[in-house]
Amino acid sequence: MKLERVLDYAKTLLRKSIDFGDVAIDATAGNGHDTLYLTELVGDTGHVFAFDVQQQALDATADRLKEHGVFERTTLILDGHENIATYVDERIGGAIFNLGYLPGADHTVTTHGQTTIQAIDEMLEMMKIGGIIVLVVYHGHEGGKEERDDVLTYVESLSQKQVHVLRYDFLNQKNDPPFILALEKVKPYTKMNAT
Ligand code: SAM
Repeated sequence: MKLERVLDYAKTLLRKSIDFGDVAIDATAGNGHDTLYLTELVGDTGHVFAFDVQQQALDATADRLKEHGVFERTTLILDGHENIATYVDERIGGAIFNLGYLPGADHTVTTHGQTTIQAIDEMLEMMKIGGIIVLVVYHGHEGGKEERDDVLTYVESLSQKQVHVLRYDFLNQKNDPPFILALEKVKPYTKMNAT
């Protein structure tokens, strides 16, 4: 297959965005696959902040990171990504969200449109010029379509002078396949509710 699969393309975008020594964000740690990948990209001089609202997810993430000897490159935060400004004050090199629920866990604990948007908006302000926020949008579950539509409305409203917005989507796959939204910051950005 020559067209990259969604999860591979998410990695390609993160690789373009994040340099050695950067600060990177995993907004939805889950089982820690993306957190681990981000630790490779930032190297031993960078740092990864990973958020999740479930202790079970952070425990699985911590185990994975320790197994690979990179736990010290990370800070795991048991809180919603919408509160990122409470925990991170560095410039961000790039970020990833996997929307939806944690596979194998309670399917009713999912990401939600309004908090996802709040987090993206904060991160756009905090991110370096040239940085990319990657969202893998799963929308087959209960509430998934509402979140998808809320996020689409928000990203479509962003000024093209400040943020380039890409959708990468296989249009003829069955069963609500996930797609990517990628937001590249090209000019300084001030968050929506800045005072
Ligand atoms: N990237 C993960 C992996 O590699 O396994 C999968 C993430 S899973 C699709 C979505 C995760 O988002 C769940 O673990 C869920 O607990 C978490 N989540 C839900 N709402 C959140 C919020 N407001 N802030 C941070 N994480 C949240």
